[in-house]
Amino acid sequence: MLTTRPTGTNDFLPGESEKWQYIEQLCRQVCAEYGYKEIRLPIFEHTEVYLRSVGETSDIVEKEMYSFEDKGFRHMTLRPEGTAGTVRAFLENKLYADPQPTKLYYMGPMFRYDKPQAGRYRQFNQFGIEVFGADHAGIDAEVITLAVEIFRRLGLTGLSVKINTVGCADCRPKHMEELKTYFRQYEDKLCDTCRDRLERNPLRILDCKEDGCKEVCKGAPTTIEAACDNCSTHFNKLLEYLDAVGISYEIDTNLVRGLDYYVRTAFEVVINSVGSAQNALCGGGRYNGMVEQFGGDDMPGIGYAMGMERLLLTLKEQGIELPVSKHPEVYIAPLGEAAQKEAFVLTQALRGKGIYTEKDYLGKSLKAQMKAADRFQVAYTVIIGDSELEKGIAVVREMATGEQHEVALSQLVEDLEGRLK
Ligand code: AMP
Repeated sequence: MLTTRPTGTNDFLPGESEKWQYIEQLCRQVCAEYGYKEIRLPIFEHTEVYLRSVGETSDIVEKEMYSFEDKGFRHMTLRPEGTAGTVRAFLENKLYADPQPTKLYYMGPMFRYDKPQAGRYRQFNQFGIEVFGADHAGIDAEVITLAVEIFRRLGLTGLSVKINTVGCADCRPKHMEELKTYFRQYEDKLCDTCRDRLERNPLRILDCKEDGCKEVCKGAPTTIEAACDNCSTHFNKLLEYLDAVGISYEIDTNLVRGLDYYVRTAFEVVINSVGSAQNALCGGGRYNGMVEQFGGDDMPGIGYAMGMERLLLTLKEQGIELPVSKHPEVYIAPLGEAAQKEAFVLTQALRGKGIYTEKDYLGKSLKAQMKAADRFQVAYTVIIGDSELEKGIAVVREMATGEQHEVALSQLVEDLEGRLK
């Protein structure tokens, strides 16, 4: 146990963590261009927050929440997703009083007690955005565009945007009844989970991945057929906006997503190449009504969340190398204790100029230090022994050519700055 991490969690080691930083930076950059501001929220909330929003029949609430009682006997839950906490914070901090829309983003760990497999973990990281206060279909298009833009800048290929309209308080109840009537005829063909969903939330049957259920769903009344005029108009406008900026999409009438709170727009960006079930890189939709459910005024909302681990897996599968800087530019090789100190001072001075510099701390031989410099793939190695110290110089070796120059210690920082330009 002492040396085994909990099931469904990951250690991201150096080599991998730079990729995380790169992607996080890219997300921040795109958000800045789109006018989305970061919100940093607690990693646990009152359990009630999730019960109210995510939905009683969702997998999250039914079986995946990491819930606990704290020492004050309060019911708490490690956040399984970011939207509910954002809605809570939006109300608590009265962000509704600001000029609308409120455009937010977050990133960080989420927790779901799920069956771990490739691309599905118990602790995973999401980058997500949420927009409050705008009901116009154009903002739905902006949210989808922001997701696609991140994937585009990463150079990912073979992705598709799947999109659907899932109904609203006006048209969903009737559709649910139609679905129940339809599915009852095929009850024996449905999987156990869907048979259980039939009376409680038949909409969820539409996105079941079991072959038998998929077959039955082919004849089910779709959300698009059941959409009221307002939902249809909104959906068509959204598609027009996506067309206008050249974002291709596929309408997927079975896409209803696992969370109960979506109304109207639901979408996912999926990878076509991977045959596995875990092919959704991100998913989201509109959640008008949730702010009201938390006790606020009627306020529309829309957002999505992207799985960072899945994104990294996909980058790997597609052989995409991120431009993360891996190697120091300079290695300082001191020989002897006096040189060690001088080397330390020089190392600090070079770093102060923004030059990524490494030095030996183990008192290695010159040969071993040169090997280390090779391994680091530095451009220059600076050798300082007793005789160099006496003369007030260092030997600068250009690693690519093997050429060496003597440089006065007082000039060394300037010299290397010049060479590295
Ligand atoms: P959701 O919050 O369920 O809408 O999921 C949004 C995205 O988060 C998915 O498309 C995945 O990329 C990612 N995701 C959801 N659940 C997991 C999980 N258990 N492990 C890893 N990534 C996940």
